[in-house]
Amino acid sequence: MNLNDVKDLLSSAAQEFLARGNHRMLIGGQWVAAAGGETLEVVNPATEAVIATVPAAQPADVDAAVAAARRAFDSGPWSRAKPAERERLLLRLADLMEQNGRTLAEIESIDNGKSAAIAQAVDVGLSVSYMRYMAGWATKIEGSTVDVSVPFMPDNEFVNFTRREPVGVVAAVVAWNFPLLLACWKLGPALATGCTVVLKPAEQTPLSALFLGQLIQEAGYPDGVVNVLTGDGIGAGAPLTRHPGVNKITFTGSTEVGKLIGKAAMENMTRLTLELGGKSPVIVLEDCDPAMAAAGAAQAIYFNQGQVCCAGSRLYVHKKNFDRVVADLASHASAMTIGHGLDPTAQLGPLVSREQMERVCSYIDIGRQQGGEIVVGGGRATEVGYFVKPTVMTKVDQKARVVQEEIFGPVVVAMPYDDLDEVAALANDTPYGLGASIWSNDLSRVHRLIPKIKAGTVWVNCHNMLDAAMPFGGYKQSGFGKEMGRAALDGYLEQKSVFMAV
Ligand code: NAD
Repeated sequence: MNLNDVKDLLSSAAQEFLARGNHRMLIGGQWVAAAGGETLEVVNPATEAVIATVPAAQPADVDAAVAAARRAFDSGPWSRAKPAERERLLLRLADLMEQNGRTLAEIESIDNGKSAAIAQAVDVGLSVSYMRYMAGWATKIEGSTVDVSVPFMPDNEFVNFTRREPVGVVAAVVAWNFPLLLACWKLGPALATGCTVVLKPAEQTPLSALFLGQLIQEAGYPDGVVNVLTGDGIGAGAPLTRHPGVNKITFTGSTEVGKLIGKAAMENMTRLTLELGGKSPVIVLEDCDPAMAAAGAAQAIYFNQGQVCCAGSRLYVHKKNFDRVVADLASHASAMTIGHGLDPTAQLGPLVSREQMERVCSYIDIGRQQGGEIVVGGGRATEVGYFVKPTVMTKVDQKARVVQEEIFGPVVVAMPYDDLDEVAALANDTPYGLGASIWSNDLSRVHRLIPKIKAGTVWVNCHNMLDAAMPFGGYKQSGFGKEMGRAALDGYLEQKSVFMAV
C-alpha cells in the first residue's frame, strides 16, 4: 500500500501537502533545501512506503537557522512586539491550527501511524488549547518591586524592582510520539515570552512541524521568529544544542540523549529544560473494582501504541485482585482492532518505525528470557507495517530489564503486591519519575500514598490526562523543568534585578 492507496481517505488539503513529495524547511522566512542538498526519507509506518523527503540539515544549516533566530530576536519587528501583539499572534495561530485541524491530524497520522481521529481530538485539541492558554500569559508577565534595606548604608534611599525578560534564542528538539503537541509545548511559552525558536522535529516525524511552519507564516509572525530545521540527531540536533548562539535548549526525548544534551549545554551555560523518559506505575489498591482497574490499565498502556512518555507500563495490583485484573486486561488487549491510522475502526496503530518495532520486540524477548510469562500478545502483529500486538507480561522480577527500562511500546508488566508501603517502594524503584496512577476510592489510602510517590504527576482513577494549565515534568531521570501551566514560562524568562539609588 502506498500513498495512493490511502489518498481517498485524506482531505484535499492533506493530499495537496503530501503531493509535494520533496519538502523544504523554514529558515529566516524562506523555504529552503539543506545547503549541501542532503535529504531524509519519511516513511508511513502502517505501510512502510516512503511518503516524502525532507532536508537533512547539517551544521551549516543549523548556523543559518540560529543566525535567523538571533536577527529576529535582536532587531526587527519581533524585538519590538508588545505583549498584546504576542497575544494576538498566538491566538491567530491557534485559530489557524483549529481551522486546519483535520489536515494536521491526517499528516500526523500518516507520518507517525497514530489514529487521525484521536490525533484531531487529542494532539491537535491539546495543541490549540495550549496556544490559547499561553496567549493569555503574554500580557501577564510581571516582575516585582522589592523594599530593600541595605544595612551598610542606612541613610540612603534605593528603589529595587525586577523584570522578567525573554531568554533569547530557543533550540527546541522534540521526539516523534506527539510531534505537533511536543512542538507546541515549546513554541507556546517561547512565543508568549518573546523568544525566537529553532524547532527541530524528530527525523521520523517532521511533516506536521513543516505544516505548522506554514501556519506560523500565515498568522503573520515576522521572518526568523520560528525556524523549522528538519534533520537527524547527529547532523542537526547535536550541532543545534551545542551552538553558542542558543540561549536555551528545551528537549523532549530519551534520557540517554537528554544526558548528552545536558553535558553540551553546560559548555555554554545554556538554559535547559529536559522532558525525558518514564516507566510509570499503575497502582491498583485493594478496594478498586477489578473491571474498572483493568479498563484503566489498558488505556494507560495502549493509548498511542504505548509510545507515551508517561505510559502506565508497570501494573501493580493488590494480590487479592491480581488474577482477575490481569485476565480482564488481557481480554481488553486481545479485543483491540489493529489497523492504520486513517481506519476509524482501528484501536491500535503501528509503532513509528522499524527500529522502534524491533526494539519493542527485543524487549519482549528479553522479558521471556528473564522468566516472564506472556499472558497475551508477544511480538509483531502483521507482515507489513510496524504493528506490535498489545502485550501483557507477568511473573517478572522487579529487577528484570522489562520492569526497569522504558520499552515505549504496547507492553505492560503486571506484578502483585501485599501492602501500601511495599507498593510505594516498588513504584519508586526505577530510575524514572514521570507519572503514576492510583486506582481506588479509599481516600485515606490514596492520600497516604500520593506523597510517597516520586513522580511529577500522580493521577487518581485516571491516567495520561493532561491539560494546558497543569504543570507537567519529571522527577529523577525523567528530567527537570516544567511544560504547561504557569511554571512553563519560567524556563523562557530571565529575571533581572534593577537597583537604583534615588
Ligand atoms: P531521542 O532522544 O532518540 O530523540 C529525540 C530528539 O532528539 C529527536 O529530534 C532526535 O533527532 C534528537 N537527537 C537525537 N540524538 C541527539 C543528539 N545527540 N543531540 C541532540 N539531539 C539529538 O528520543 P525518541 O526515541 O525520539 O523519543 C522517545 C523518548 O522521548 C522516550 O524516552 C520518551 O519517554 C521521551 N518523551 C518524553 C516526554 C516527556 O514529556 N517527558 C514526552 C514525549 C517523549
